[in-house]
Amino acid sequence: MSAIIRTENLEKLYNIMTKAPIHALKGVSLEINEGEMVAIQGPSGCGKSTLLHILGCLDYPNKGKYFYKGNEVAFSNNSEIAKMRNKEIGFILQNYGLIGERTVYDNVIIPLVFANKNPKKEESRINELLDSLGILHLKDSIADNISGGERQRCAIARALVNEPSVILGDEPTGALDSENGKQCMALLREINKKGTTVIIVTHDDSVAACCDRIIRMKDGNIYSV
Ligand code: ADP
Repeated sequence: MSAIIRTENLEKLYNIMTKAPIHALKGVSLEINEGEMVAIQGPSGCGKSTLLHILGCLDYPNKGKYFYKGNEVAFSNNSEIAKMRNKEIGFILQNYGLIGERTVYDNVIIPLVFANKNPKKEESRINELLDSLGILHLKDSIADNISGGERQRCAIARALVNEPSVILGDEPTGALDSENGKQCMALLREINKKGTTVIIVTHDDSVAACCDRIIRMKDGNIYSV
């Protein structure tokens, strides 16, 4: 198996210009293989979200290297970073990150619009995707008016709409009850079985146990993989 993601000594500092900078990542090196389903686990504040945001190119490291499909990611190259975010990576944000007053469909097509694709031309594929996630009947429903589990499916559909190679989930089950949490993990596993690499951040042991491998973090670093 080949590594789709590899990092070398990633460091992240916040509040860098102040007297009390926060060293959120202290030299994280990891490798994730294509097709793996991996959990990043650790206590609150240990740097999980920071790491996930860097892997998803939503943030940049202050030091260290990030290799994606063998190529070093150039964080200073805005167009390359935008392409990574749009085409390669699907992000499931904490608390879904949906636009509450818009429909499920409007939310799901956002990444297509950013990728300069015409959603009308992709209508049948979008319908198939919504159907596979059991929310086709909610296509025209307002996001604020559907249940938590349905919102999460909508967030997963949005993460998948550009057919990314990697799905990153920040506490994807965090706002769900245990039954919906289980269903969410089953959906992510199905997506993974079709070939998508899945990386989730969780503090929940039972969620982490659903993954192939657990990367454990503590105080800004990895201590077991
Ligand atoms: P986790 O996801 O494990 O809870 P985070 O990556 O969110 O951890 O945070 C790691 C550390 O960085 C914490 O001390 C947190 O307070 C700090 N931190 C995270 N984001 C920011 C930010 N935008 N500005 C300043 N400090 C931050």
